[in-house]
Amino acid sequence: MSKVEILREVHRRLKRLFPVPYTPKRTPLEQAVFTVLSQNTTDRNAERCLENLKRITGGNLLMLEELPEKKLIDAIRPCGMFKQKSKGLKVLVSVWPELEGRLRELPTEKAIELLTSLPYIGSKTARVILTFAFNKNTFPIDTHCYRVLKRLGIFPENWDKDMVSEFMEKHFDGEFNRELHYNLIRLGRTICKARKPECDNCPLNDLCKYSREKEKREQETPTPSQL
Ligand code: SF4
Repeated sequence: MSKVEILREVHRRLKRLFPVPYTPKRTPLEQAVFTVLSQNTTDRNAERCLENLKRITGGNLLMLEELPEKKLIDAIRPCGMFKQKSKGLKVLVSVWPELEGRLRELPTEKAIELLTSLPYIGSKTARVILTFAFNKNTFPIDTHCYRVLKRLGIFPENWDKDMVSEFMEKHFDGEFNRELHYNLIRLGRTICKARKPECDNCPLNDLCKYSREKEKREQETPTPSQL
């Protein structure tokens, strides 16, 4: 099977495993703030900090810019890396009124360039904002997604995350990429865990390089009675 065919099959099987799509109900600005907050922490922590911010700004996140440093930091402390995140958020909201319209209009590649020109926004964060807040066709790759893709062995070892994202954006549409991105994260959190992947319970095991190699290793390892 070609890469595209395997990815279609992976997507089909993961949709069966996770039938309810992830559809966050946030405004574009809330999504952008949430995405910055969620870096290197759990979604639950990021959600908690977003709620703190909404509470102290009276629901108007643009007011973030006016908040005293300490108040902002206290609100986002549970997310960790709060100093960097507070700086990133202040810049983000200060340019947001103009930025939002431009992100809507620009082609995806240019929108990624624009977002990554801001502090504390890398290409993964930019892609998450663009797919979930603006419905653009991007394929963000977080740690879980990357680990699962690496184990599946669909892409050459020397491809970096941006190369994989660009391949996905060229060959699949926004809905496909959004669903697959999030379902790979779900698989990484529940079955293809970092330490002990549960390959026997995984619907992708016959497509997966890691699982094939693991099986081969197990067959080659002599059992105590063979020694
Ligand atoms: S078969 Fe194993 S390594 Fe491969 S994706 Fe599934 S859990 Fe991960």
